[in-house]
Amino acid sequence: MIVDLRSDTVTKPTPAMRKAMAEAEVGDDVFGEDPTVNRLQERVAELLGQESALFVPTGTMSNEIAIKVWTKPGDAVLMDEECHILHYELAGPAVLAGVQMEQVPTHRGVMNVEEVRKRIRIEDDHCPGTALLCVENTHNRCGGTILPIENLKELSECARAHGLRLHMDGARLMNAAVAMRKPATTWTQYVDSVTICLSKGLGCPVGSVLAGSQEFIHQAHRVRKLFGGGMRQVGVLAAAGLVAIETMIDRMAEDHQRAQKLAVAIANMPQYGIDLEAVQTNILYVHTKPPALEVEQALKAHGVLTLGIDSHRLRMITHYEINDAGIEHAIAALSKVG
Ligand SMILES: *Cc1c(COP(=O)(O)O)cnc(C)c1O
Repeated sequence: MIVDLRSDTVTKPTPAMRKAMAEAEVGDDVFGEDPTVNRLQERVAELLGQESALFVPTGTMSNEIAIKVWTKPGDAVLMDEECHILHYELAGPAVLAGVQMEQVPTHRGVMNVEEVRKRIRIEDDHCPGTALLCVENTHNRCGGTILPIENLKELSECARAHGLRLHMDGARLMNAAVAMRKPATTWTQYVDSVTICLSKGLGCPVGSVLAGSQEFIHQAHRVRKLFGGGMRQVGVLAAAGLVAIETMIDRMAEDHQRAQKLAVAIANMPQYGIDLEAVQTNILYVHTKPPALEVEQALKAHGVLTLGIDSHRLRMITHYEINDAGIEHAIAALSKVG
């Protein structure tokens, strides 16, 4: 038995997705003529309470497009010190948008509004002007933590008061919505742009959707082309996205329950450390005494795949291909090693 907990991106498309992909009605999306893409974009705009949306190949491109649209070269962008944009996008904002990334401390994915406020800079003959604030929800490197709505509201008021735009990297926003039993608009009402990933817990083979105002999406469409992301009969991929939106959101509650079960079992194993309060959705970080890569290898020998993230930190993520038996198997393997 192989239990692959490395990421929620390892899933294969569901049979319903394969069928929808095979049967998708398509057209040339560069001409805006792919009806399936158009339907997905409308559906996601509605889900996120935004005027308009754009289908994008990856979450990374989605974030980079948003940053490029909201800034000019030489601007400063504020983001938390653990965010995906800073750690995993190859310094894209510096390379693609020519902006300076500035870090704000974070605790479980939450930035203190005062820490943000004191870093906002007014453009003058010496300083770059701060143009954009980025938030991440749920927060990947902080453990799949949910952005508190009150905090987001404060951040958005602060951003607005200082003329900054607010972008949400919502790669796993739907996990937050499911966990809190609230619509995604609970968060997105406070942002200028938001992206969700279809290829994480929602199980699609490819795809993210970027959403915002009509004018923002008009600009984003141009930048997507600039970044080489203009696609043709891409309804074959958008079709899987529509299946995901209709059938894969609510079921993520099961992923969260299984992550909890695994986390509680690990908390009872003396050889590991885990912050149970940070386990709010489908991601777990486990602190190991030996180097994480050694534990990763030992677990692999038992058929349990995990990801060594830092020197002594392992990541595990539940998803729709992990069932109860998989969790039991992982618990048994974890208790034998470490
Ligand atoms: C996965 C992820 C992305 C986008 O990743 P891609 O691999 O480019 O789709 C962006 N932000 C967060 C928080 C993520 O977890």
